[in-house]
Amino acid sequence: MRKILDYTISLLKGLGVTAKYLFRPSVTLQYPKQRWTPPERFRGRVALRPKKCISCQMCARACPNNCLEVKFNVGEDKKRKLNEFIYRMDTCLFCGLCVEPCPASAIFMNHDYELSVYDRNTLIMNLVKTDSYVE
Ligand code: SF4
Ligand code: SF4
Repeated sequence: MRKILDYTISLLKGLGVTAKYLFRPSVTLQYPKQRWTPPERFRGRVALRPKKCISCQMCARACPNNCLEVKFNVGEDKKRKLNEFIYRMDTCLFCGLCVEPCPASAIFMNHDYELSVYDRNTLIMNLVKTDSYVE
């Protein structure tokens, strides 16, 4: 008799936990129909505002994994003109260390999180061509 009482109490406790979660709002998303909105400071991939970049290479020097390569020409006015900004996402740590030293706020981590690809060569990109952020 004692055992039956213990089992019943245990069963009711378990059902109580189930009932508690049953009426709470769901935290899972029906991906891909529903998309997640990342928080403000989320670090997706490295992105560039090409018009703001002054080709100083501070970001490339700060990168611990040599993921960035800044290629530029020096014009007649002695100013650097950005040609290519190579970003190797295949070896990127998403650490954000390249963002901090940029004097022109040209480089940042965007909110992209759907970054899987079939061909890893596509993880090496020229951000001058792919990115058109202007703000
Ligand atoms: S996020 Fe980190 S690893 Fe990736 S490019 Fe920037 S500094 Fe390099
Ligand atoms: S630190 Fe900023 S301005 Fe300098 S090369 Fe990198 S992105 Fe361009």
